[in-house]
Order: sequence, then C-alpha cells, then structure tokens
Amino acid sequence: MKNQEIEYPLGARPGDGEMLKIRDGLYWVRMPIPIEGLDYINLYLIEDDDGWTIVDSGFKSEKITELWEIIFKKFLKGKPVTRLICTHFHPDHMGLAGWVTNRWNIPLTMTFGEWTFGRMLYLEASEKTPDFVVDFYASIGFSEKMLDKVRARGFNHFERAMTPVPMGFSRIADGDVIRIGKRDWQVIVGTGHAPEHACLYAAEEGIMISGDQVLPRITPHIGVYPAEPLANPLKQFMQSIDKLSKLPRDTLVLPAHNDVFTGLHNQLDYYKSHHTDRLKKLLEACDSPKSAIDLLPVLFDRELTESDVRLAISEGLAHCHYLVEEGDLDRICGEDGVWKFQRHGARHRAVA
Ligand SMILES: [Zn+2]
Repeated sequence: MKNQEIEYPLGARPGDGEMLKIRDGLYWVRMPIPIEGLDYINLYLIEDDDGWTIVDSGFKSEKITELWEIIFKKFLKGKPVTRLICTHFHPDHMGLAGWVTNRWNIPLTMTFGEWTFGRMLYLEASEKTPDFVVDFYASIGFSEKMLDKVRARGFNHFERAMTPVPMGFSRIADGDVIRIGKRDWQVIVGTGHAPEHACLYAAEEGIMISGDQVLPRITPHIGVYPAEPLANPLKQFMQSIDKLSKLPRDTLVLPAHNDVFTGLHNQLDYYKSHHTDRLKKLLEACDSPKSAIDLLPVLFDRELTESDVRLAISEGLAHCHYLVEEGDLDRICGEDGVWKFQRHGARHRAVA
C-alpha cells in the first residue's frame, strides 16, 4: 500500500492567545519561541471531566506567560488546569513547567529520564564552562578560537531558559495509559532526540501527540553531547522509527512544530532515507582519517552560523558513532588528541 502523502487537514492555525479545536475536548495552542528556524512551538490542551491537561509548557518568556494567562481566562470554561505533561526536557517544552505547576499547584508529569535530565542540567548550571565540556569539544576537533567561545558561553544557557524545574514529579513510562476525559492516551516512548521522549497516542481515534519525535517539514535534531560523549542516538532514533511505524497509516499527528498532519509513514520513511543517505556520504568521505569538523561540509552544503556549527557537529558525530557501532568506521585518536573516523579496514589496506 502506498504511503499517504503528507497533508495538513486542519487548514488553519491558532493565532496568538487562541485555542483551535482539533476534536471535541482536544485543542491546539501556538506560542512564539526565540529559537531561530522554529519560531513557534505547538502545545495541546485536553479537557478532562474536572479540569484540563496541558501537554508541554513553552519556553521561559514573559510573552508566553502573558499568552497563557489569556488562554486560562478565556477558554478553560471555569475549570482549573489539573495536570502538565512535558514530552521531554528541552527548554521550549519544559521551560515554563515550574511556572505552570506553581500557578496551578499541580504535579509535573514526565518520564523518569526526561525529568531527571532536565533537573540535572538545571542544577549543574554554572557561569564557568566545566573543563569536561571544553575537553569534549577539543577531542572532536574544535580550534583554540572555537574553544574560547565554548569557554565564554558559560554553562548556564539551559538554566536561563527555564523556570525552576520542580523538585518532584509524577512518573509516566512506555505503555502507560492516561485517561483524560473520554479518551485513553497511551504513552509511547521514543528515543534519539531526547533520552526518554513521551508521545501520547489515542488509539480509538488514531491521534498522536508526537512532541519533537516526529515533525513535518523538518527532521528532529539527533546529536551527541558532552554528558554522553560515546552515545549512539541515531541508532535509538532509527529503532523508534520502527516502533512508530506500527501505528496506523492514517494517524493524525499533533507535532510540537509546524502543522498538524497526516502521512506519518511517509515522514518516517523520509527520516530513514535522509539518514541513510548521510551515512553513505560519510562512509565515502572517510577513506582517510577525518574529524567531526572535517566532515561538516560532507553533511551540510549550506553556510553554517555559529550556533548551527555546534548542532551540526553533534549531529555529524551521531552519524559517525552509528557507523562505528555497525563496524563500518574505526574511531582512532590522533597524535593531536582529536578523534578521527576512518572506513573500517582502510588503514590496514593503506599499509599493505
Ligand atoms: Zn526537542
């Protein structure tokens, strides 16, 4: 059966401070975020018998808290917010979790991996960039000039984007079912973009709130970062694609960025081919030892801004680590202390 093309069946978006009805008791809210290239995050409200569940909170900003207050006043039919579920720890999703949970005196509902990771990053923030972080970027080939920027950036950019991350949480895990109003929402955990990302799936109507795990028009960022320098997130992401491919083809997907869409399988297939294509290009380029920095032009044919470079390198590393684990690339430490990647066996052939 042919995959359903990507379509945007609602044909409309909510304006600032507005809620758009998707189905009875299920609404879409958009909030402006200061992240270049994304511009907006989608948040969802689900009506319960005695209150409302919010899915994702938005970035810490005065503008978003103002818009929330408008929504709270105008649309909640006099019922309180009783639950906040955050799909994952990234600041555009969890940034206002502290504010929302305080505002309504409610618990924060998240997976264990996402809450602990967010809480950890919030608590370990410091003005000074830890040596461990500088060493990580040095080992992947950053120049002294680039390392100076890592040092100057400090280590509190996450904290600055967050209201205090709640000290306690209410746990959800893969396979759990949350009853909200007349619907059962099944938690489907995805990986690769974040450690334990929760998607919510209402099987009866075939609706999935996908967070950043599945996005239309763009591919979710898959990166390696200092906290787990040998991670293989691309493998986890590919496994999550297989898991989500079991959902029905006509699933209505409610993503965290861009528009509500159908064509889930089409998009999952696109992700697979996009990453497979990049893996192939990398492998071809690694006939001699290359650092993650050397490999940037292989993966990105556009001019990269400074913040792009960090994301691009972490994404490039994710592809290298995938190939290392598959046995296709060797990871070799050069005399300069920088990790290089080379096609498996290429070194031996060159010597012979
Ligand atoms: Zn994210």
